[in-house]
Amino acid sequence: MKQQYNPYDNVLKVVDHAASMLGYKEKEYAILKYPERELQVSMPVVMDDGSLKVFEGFRVQHSTARGPAKGGVRFHPGVNHDEVKALAAWMTFKCAVVNIPYGGGKGGIICDPSGMSERELHALTSKYTAAIAPLIGPEQDIPAPDVGSNAHVMAWMMDTYSMLKGHSVLGVVTGKPIGLGGILGRNEATGRGVMFTINNLLKKENRPIEGTSVVVQGMGNVGSITAKLLHRQGMKIIAVSDVSGGVYDPNGLDIPGILAYLSGGKNLLKDFDAPGINHISNAELLELDTTVLVPAALENQINGENAERIKTKYVVEAANGPTTLEADDILQARGIKLVPDILANAGGVVVSYFEWVQNIQELCWSEERVNSELKNIMDTAFEAVWEIAEQRDTTLRTGAYLISVKRVVEARQGRGVF
Ligand code: NAD
Repeated sequence: MKQQYNPYDNVLKVVDHAASMLGYKEKEYAILKYPERELQVSMPVVMDDGSLKVFEGFRVQHSTARGPAKGGVRFHPGVNHDEVKALAAWMTFKCAVVNIPYGGGKGGIICDPSGMSERELHALTSKYTAAIAPLIGPEQDIPAPDVGSNAHVMAWMMDTYSMLKGHSVLGVVTGKPIGLGGILGRNEATGRGVMFTINNLLKKENRPIEGTSVVVQGMGNVGSITAKLLHRQGMKIIAVSDVSGGVYDPNGLDIPGILAYLSGGKNLLKDFDAPGINHISNAELLELDTTVLVPAALENQINGENAERIKTKYVVEAANGPTTLEADDILQARGIKLVPDILANAGGVVVSYFEWVQNIQELCWSEERVNSELKNIMDTAFEAVWEIAEQRDTTLRTGAYLISVKRVVEARQGRGVF
């Protein structure tokens, strides 16, 4: 029988590999294989039809060695314990590779937000926030949006937490609406960071930005902003998709037109039509002939089943964990270069960090300043990962983990603990 994919196993193997290359003994990094703290919660919600439904959720703090835990809350039917653990661990290493003073955490609720009313979602979010309140706070653990959640949900989380504390606590979540302590540029930050990453990669590889073909899987927050910004730079976006399927035009898609169509909220790409458009499945989209492939949806999209058929020259992981380790090896053997999630999609947490700094220090930055500080951090991190990967003759994923595992282990050792 085929073994079920477990993203947390992926994390453990990558950490083991990096730690052994760094020459660490097992006892020096063993703790990184276990989440520091985990909470499972159940939330009863009265649905609009009068029935009562009990939802399950999680909050996991993987590490707080370098600072408070930081990470999003996912609202999705596929959420499970191992996925949340993996996402929390990826946050630890992501914050370390871009060198911001956070540990890693993540949360999730097993639910399908697309089938819930605003009132039901509000009730669920408030109950979840109250349930995890003992764990979160500006100095302990700071949630943010992830798949299926957004600025609106963050406002509800902040409100519930503030009611429990008796005063407004802006710094308890990031990714909030601008009028509620949010930061200019946060909504675009992850996609903007992916754009900086692709720019840095193409520069290293002596390839032009203008006219280079890109395929984007997932047109949610991250994928749609990535497609918008790359299109604006003159890149040729030949295919994009959402959960319903993809659209493809080898001459390049009208991205502003697609974004306007999707901005309605409920529209799906399977129903989108325009001259020159071909409808394809998500599986077909991943196998298109392109220069850059940007998986920006969920985990386990490029795996042992399809890695041999992937035709792109570069994979830039905008989603968390879209490529399995088995696929990593196949891509590497086939000469396909991959920029790992913990580097490529770090723009969101970097600007979340700026938002939190603003909230706790009562500052207010301009969008230009946010974007230019983000660029500095993304460029510096890319350069460091590229350099170590070249020096050690290894992949960019291993390079990113060499830097981040070392930083987390040193933070623990600096405190005198393993
Ligand atoms: P989102 O909910 O805004 O969008 C998800 C997109 O993926 C939607 O277009 C959806 O239709 C599509 N999708 C869902 N299931 C799919 C499937 N089975 N096949 C193909 N497409 C599918 O989520 P998001 O915030 O854009 O997050 C996307 C990824 O980026 C996730 O892995 C998330 O963890 C990661 N990420 C997000 C942020 C952020 O700031 N939002 C930051 C870093 C990483």
